[in-house]
Amino acid sequence: MPCVSFELRERDLLARIGRLRTKGGTIETPLLLPVINPAVQPVSPRSMKEEFGCGAVITNAYIVRRQFGDRAVQEGIHRLLGFQGPVMTDSGAYQILRYGDVDITPEEAVRYQEEIGTDIATILDVPTGWGAPEKRARYTVEETLRRARGLFEVKTREDIAWVGPVQGGPHLELVAQSAREMAKLPFQVHALGSPTQVMEQYLFHVLADMILTAKRNLPPDRPLHLFGAGHPLTFSLAVALGCDLFDSAAYAIYARQGRYMTEHGTLRLSELQYFPCPCPVCAANEPREVAAMPEAERAGLLARHNLHACLSETRRIKQAIAEGRLWEHLEARAHGHPSLLRALKGLERHRDYLEELSPVTKGSGLFFFGSLGLVRPEVVRHGKRLLERFTPPVGARVLLLLPQVERKPFHRSREHRRALDHLRKRLGDGLRMVHVCTYAAPFGVVPVELDEVYPLSQHEVATPIDEETRGYVAEQVGRYVGAMDYEAVVLLHDAEHWQGGLVESCRMACEGKGVPLLVVSERSPWSGEALSRLSAALHVALKREKGS
Ligand SMILES: [Zn+2]
Repeated sequence: MPCVSFELRERDLLARIGRLRTKGGTIETPLLLPVINPAVQPVSPRSMKEEFGCGAVITNAYIVRRQFGDRAVQEGIHRLLGFQGPVMTDSGAYQILRYGDVDITPEEAVRYQEEIGTDIATILDVPTGWGAPEKRARYTVEETLRRARGLFEVKTREDIAWVGPVQGGPHLELVAQSAREMAKLPFQVHALGSPTQVMEQYLFHVLADMILTAKRNLPPDRPLHLFGAGHPLTFSLAVALGCDLFDSAAYAIYARQGRYMTEHGTLRLSELQYFPCPCPVCAANEPREVAAMPEAERAGLLARHNLHACLSETRRIKQAIAEGRLWEHLEARAHGHPSLLRALKGLERHRDYLEELSPVTKGSGLFFFGSLGLVRPEVVRHGKRLLERFTPPVGARVLLLLPQVERKPFHRSREHRRALDHLRKRLGDGLRMVHVCTYAAPFGVVPVELDEVYPLSQHEVATPIDEETRGYVAEQVGRYVGAMDYEAVVLLHDAEHWQGGLVESCRMACEGKGVPLLVVSERSPWSGEALSRLSAALHVALKREKGS
């Protein structure tokens, strides 16, 4: 076994539950690493492990070197911090971002991290930051790459996992270039740099684009760390897009500022009348009591709560991955903050990529709440496969489109059975030439042959169906008609629930194919009268195609 390895256990969307083996121990991802400042510790590293169950911590090797120098070399980083478990070190990039430069060379940063025996080490990269002009951003990418290549000339130990940071900031073409070049080097872990300012300004849609650009260009079998992503509000988005490791200094910084983290956002202690959290701090105290405490004590309690909030959100996300319900979790979080919702809407641009990389089968059914869910891999996948792989049964000449009903699979519903019984009586053998499909949200066209296949009958849809979703279904129906070679199309239009573009989309597709469309539009599509009109329409359609 190599000293460092990463093994995947479960997947959902681009998220994975994995096991990262390091010389200091094995950790399960996704994992939040609290940032330890050796000088200021509102929560001691020992209690992080024993009380909070933190699998690993991160500290800044640059600060450790300045404050402890050789002592850290003699004791080793684990003893110095008092943490028995994997320790990751960053190496001063944050200081470069803040102060412009640091008094350490890239080679010294490598050597020092080897000497203190860190488990996951980071080269001294040059962060791009937010708002850097393109020329400066390009420099940070190239200089970070130069230092990354230099690592392999300098390093002497084989048992440390080295992190290859991807830079470029919001310049996506530079992020792509940076990731492509980093991928060629034998790093065990990658990291995406400079998202802190993007997150502080709630530019989550930019963050999503940065993460996905990096992911597309990095080897999927290496874990990806998101630097400085310390707020539980953003964890689900970052994990869903494939980030495995995070670090949080925010739990302590926010605490000093009297800010209380929740998975939905940040609250001020002064605004709180009740603590909406079951952690030991919140269970044992009232907000006004905490507000009245001396500053250090108050900050200590808030830091503990903030850490609980971060860790419990991480556990919820992992449980959602295990259940195959990460999308539902993500959608629930997105409704907690408009900027997160915007980021989720922006995933529309990446729907094909998300579909390609998401696992195919999952155990659980889907909850479809509205048009946001149209990005889901299951929905995208059905649309693609229907057009690429499905062939209507031999002898099916007329396409019959029935409206969806609540009961699934559709063909076993009372409504569909009744309709087909009726048609069988009226059309007799003619029904064999009719291909029965359902138009249904969110998937589009569901042929009767597929309607028991996952997830076509393993989902719940919130009704009434929103306009955007109806538009998507209409578009999918049009595409399907356009791609297949029916000789006529008969649409049973549920006029009450399917206003909007459905009829128009069918009409345009039929015109494009030069085939007739017969529409039976009814507010009660399953009534005897509606079914009589439907059988009459099918009769006409079958006759027509016989005559042609
Ligand atoms: Zn709490």
